[in-house]
Amino acid sequence: ESAAQGARLATIVALMAETAVADADFLGRLDSIAGDGDHGQGMVLGSRAAAKAAAVASDAGAGAATVLKQAGLAWAEGAGGTSGALWGRALEAVGAGLSDDAAADAATVIAAVAAGAESVAASGGAVPGDKTMVDATTPFAVALRDAGDDLPGAFATAARAATDGAEATKDLVARKGRATTHGDASLGHPDPGAISFARHMTRIAEYLAD
Ligand code: ADP
Ligand code: MG
Ligand code: MG
Repeated sequence: ESAAQGARLATIVALMAETAVADADFLGRLDSIAGDGDHGQGMVLGSRAAAKAAAVASDAGAGAATVLKQAGLAWAEGAGGTSGALWGRALEAVGAGLSDDAAADAATVIAAVAAGAESVAASGGAVPGDKTMVDATTPFAVALRDAGDDLPGAFATAARAATDGAEATKDLVARKGRATTHGDASLGHPDPGAISFARHMTRIAEYLAD
């Protein structure tokens, strides 16, 4: 039922907090090239707050929709920063596509996760090519919607699309966000927000494949 799916989602958000801690220094260095160096720390604060909120909701018996809504609100609040607000909205958007009453089937989960990834472009106003998270979230959402209804397989395919999109940002100059104030300093280096998104999706794909 949905409470069991909520518990599984709380586990995945906890996995995101582990990934964020492991990547924090690397992402901080990447964000210091053409940003303010806090992306690693922002991801740790946001994902930890989200993991805690998801665990509290799930322990209280909440279903999948509520677990992700609480996680999203906590992520935005805990992280501060541009990417934290976008991640928070994205988790809320995934939750809005799920239910508290019945467990969602694979096709519903895929549609909900794709909608969450698509919310990043809608919330932040960036388009692919602006050198932001959207260079990973948009190809991820497109691949996820196209990959069929096998959840682990679709997630693996979409995570590879996110990684390719994130890597390709190294050849771009930023047109959105704080990095625009650093001229072409980021040329040759990928966008931190796109890279962190791709790493989280890759880690979740590995988890789902187990
Ligand atoms: P801040 O820029 O507030 O310090 P972070 O360092 O946590 O926030 O996040 C920076 C990342 O946010 C960038 O690498 C980029 O991926 C993402 N970002 C910034 N502005 C936008 C936007 N308008 N749309 C999508 N992503 C954005
Ligand atoms: Mg920053
Ligand atoms: Mg900042």
